[in-house]
Amino acid sequence: MTTDHDTPIQEMDDADNEVYADDRVDDLVKGVAAAHLAGTLYVVPTPIGNLQDITERARDVLASATTIAAEDTRRCRKLLHLLDITPVRVMPLHEHNEAGAVASVVRRLEAGEIVALVSDAGTPLISDPGHLLLRAVWEAQAAGANVRVVPLPGPSAVLTALSACPLPLHLFSFAGFLPAKSTGRRARLQELLGLPGAFVLFEAPHRIAVALEDLAELAGDRRVFIARELTKMHESLLLGTATQVLERLVAAQALRGEFVVVVEGPPARGQGLEVDAERLLLALAEELSPAQAAKVAARLTGGKRADFYARLQELNG
Ligand code: SAM
Repeated sequence: MTTDHDTPIQEMDDADNEVYADDRVDDLVKGVAAAHLAGTLYVVPTPIGNLQDITERARDVLASATTIAAEDTRRCRKLLHLLDITPVRVMPLHEHNEAGAVASVVRRLEAGEIVALVSDAGTPLISDPGHLLLRAVWEAQAAGANVRVVPLPGPSAVLTALSACPLPLHLFSFAGFLPAKSTGRRARLQELLGLPGAFVLFEAPHRIAVALEDLAELAGDRRVFIARELTKMHESLLLGTATQVLERLVAAQALRGEFVVVVEGPPARGQGLEVDAERLLLALAEELSPAQAAKVAARLTGGKRADFYARLQELNG
């Protein structure tokens, strides 16, 4: 079977697609051929479970970096070992030392090093360390230093979950972890439930049950999507109300592992445009007799024909 994926670029018959595809090929060639730039901080996503999800580019950057700044150096060395990469230098950069470590990383970049930033899993900065470092590199650049940030696309628990989620996602917020204490957690949930779109949470195994219990109480009939252990052996995806999803997790003894929780947004407020009844009546009266305008306005708004007619008489003085 031929799918869009299998279609060779030369055979695409849509002219716009062809241009786009060709542009992308050019970019890919440039990317592969380019030497890594001195003074660059590469933000490198790493697998969230399945080692095969490391990208070729991430491998390449990790192998070329003169310094790898890692949330957990032991975990990073394990990954590098599995990837058959012998690093030049691995230094710790985690929430407890980031403020102090930033200056030394920026100095290395200013001296022309190639630095890779990695977290324990997934994309750095997304509920992971790196924000202070990023800010400092941007500030150094603004002050004239020859340094820059280059982000690599790659594994992300949020985007992997969202890409399988059947809930409407035209608008969503990412809220990371909920507060641990009940009062704070419930207050944050109330706040998130008041937003216009869906929201995405991270949850730890020891807190998923209480989070779902709170949601069951506060979120009404809104549906919840759970992505558990993404890319791993026991990956599971569940959809239902918070109560249903919790029951299924309990029944399957699956309250362990890592979770992304997506909560459906509120129902849309009315379909289509809201029209002010009086403006509608006046617009109709420009085209129709007062009796016809009152009749159509009543039909469109559900109001009374006599009221619209009386209003027109009043306006016409
Ligand atoms: N920066 C990471 C990313 O981009 O995926 C997330 C780091 S955050 C500290 C860790 C949380 O991400 C976990 O507690 C869990 O909520 C979620 N997570 C990470 N890996 C996951 C996986 N394989 N399946 C489901 N959720 C995962």
